[in-house]
This record gives sequence, structure tokens and C-alpha cells, in this order.
Amino acid sequence: MKRIATIAEMKAACRQGTRNGKTLGFVPTMGALHEGHLSLVRASKARCDVTAVSIFVNPLQFGPAEDLDKYPRTMERDTALLEQLGADLLFTPGVEEMYPPGAQTYVLVEGLSNKLDGASRPGHFRGVATVVAKLFEVVRPDFAFFGQKDAAQVAVLRKLVNDLDMDVEVVVCPIVREKDGLAMSSRNAYLTSEQRQQATVLYRSLLRVQAAVDHGERDSAKLIEIGKQVIANETGAKLDYFAIVDRDTLELVADVSCGALVAVAAYIGSTRLIDNILVTASSR
Ligand code: AMP
Repeated sequence: MKRIATIAEMKAACRQGTRNGKTLGFVPTMGALHEGHLSLVRASKARCDVTAVSIFVNPLQFGPAEDLDKYPRTMERDTALLEQLGADLLFTPGVEEMYPPGAQTYVLVEGLSNKLDGASRPGHFRGVATVVAKLFEVVRPDFAFFGQKDAAQVAVLRKLVNDLDMDVEVVVCPIVREKDGLAMSSRNAYLTSEQRQQATVLYRSLLRVQAAVDHGERDSAKLIEIGKQVIANETGAKLDYFAIVDRDTLELVADVSCGALVAVAAYIGSTRLIDNILVTASSR
């Protein structure tokens, strides 16, 4: 695996990698890699001739009161894991490389960027769309792999790719969970052992909603109440949002008969966690 820190070298390595019509898969991450990230790398390896991964903790997607400074950084361990998995290229630019002084261009997917996590984290999806647009231009992947874990991010990035006619196929991979259901996240490292137990409430709330759908409930308002109640019963958790929306537009849907994204965000202590499931009417 080749580790590269500059845009010029990464461009050259990616163009070189795709000569003779080879396909290039790309997995953008912020590092502190876990099985969720690694599942994306495996998916890319299975589908593409060459796999590139980036590790960049993108300051643009963190709010002023958020955890940019304390975000876990485990570069040596990450590098070893990616090496083991057989990734071909690892891009690890510094902040100045990605945002040199004087950079003034941002990418904003309007509308979608203010929904779900975008509502709670103003500017977050502008940061995400900007860095992903830049990374796509550097790497020019044929396929880009993202996790369903960040469902709103998937909606924003699909729209970005569609609206800007980008020649990349967005591939969405399932959420990888711990044995007790907690969605894997780099932020789980912040949790104390007590909070780690409490954190399972997000998935429990989603399972309760799924069970209600399985029993025939279709009304989103009622399903949201059911989910919120599960969160309210966990003393260590504070709800941010519980929403039932269209997976593409992120608009609220009144009922789940045509399928819907059920998404939750909650604070466990000061750690904000998210999770979601897709429910389908056929789940009855
Ligand atoms: P991050 O490093 O948090 O920016 O995540 C990088 C990519 O990994 C994103 O596409 C995430 O959606 C994905 N990802 C994070 N956690 C998981 C998980 N538990 N299962 C599947 N994908 C994940």
C-alpha cells in the first residue's frame, strides 16, 4: 500500500492506477477505523481493481463547539489495518493541503443539508459536500463506498453526484453493529462503560419501531412516539431527533406504507450518536 499526503501525488497515483481501464474504488474516512470502515474497504476490493482510502479529519464539517480537537486519531493502527486488508492507496492529506490559505469555494447541497443531522449541526453537510467534492476530483473514482450508518450523508452525497453530473457511482453498504446492536462509530471510544451500555438505546428504539411496523402500525406520528418513549426511558440518553423520512428527500413521511427511513440521534453524556433502519411495508 502506498501512503500519500499530497494532492499532486495522489492524483498521479490514481491516474496511474486506472490506466488500461482498471476500475478504482474509493473509501473516504476520518480514520479511527473500525469494522464499519473495513466493510467498505472489503466492498471496494470485491468490486474494483484498485482501492483507495482517505483518512482526513475534515475541520469544515465540525461546528465550533464540536469534538474536532478530541476526535480519535489512530493513524499507525489504521495504516496497519488497511495494509492487512490490501488497500492499494492511502491518502492522508494535512489540513493545509486540503484547505490552503485563501481557499474560498464551498459546495452546498441546498435543502437536504438542513435536514436531520444538518438541522442539529449547522454547516456540517456543507463541510461534508465540500470535502467529498474535492476528494472525488483528486481520486476520480469509478465507485465510492459509504455507510448507511450516515443515512442523511448518503442522501446529500447522492444529490451532489447527481446535480454535478459526477462520473462516480455511490455504493451504500449496510450498518455494521457490535454484538449488542450498537452501531459501530469512532465516537463510541468516548463512552464510559456505563454509557456504552446506555448507548444501546438507539438501536433498541429502532427495533421497537420495527416491531410496531411488523404488528401493522403505519402511522409515522405513532411510531415516532413509540421510539421517543424508549429513549426517554433511558436516563443516560438525551434525544436530539427521532424522525421518519423519505430516504432520498429526507422529507417527513406521514406513514410508512411505501417504506421509510427511521432515524435517531441522541446524546449519551456529551457524545452524540446516530443510528437508523429502513422499514418496508413488506416487513409486516
Ligand atoms: P467516518 O470516518 O465516520 O467519516 O466514516 C467513514 C465512512 O464509514 C462513512 O461512509 C460512514 O458512513 C461509514 N461508517 C461509519 N460507521 C459505520 C458502520 N457502523 N457501518 C457501516 N459504515 C460505517
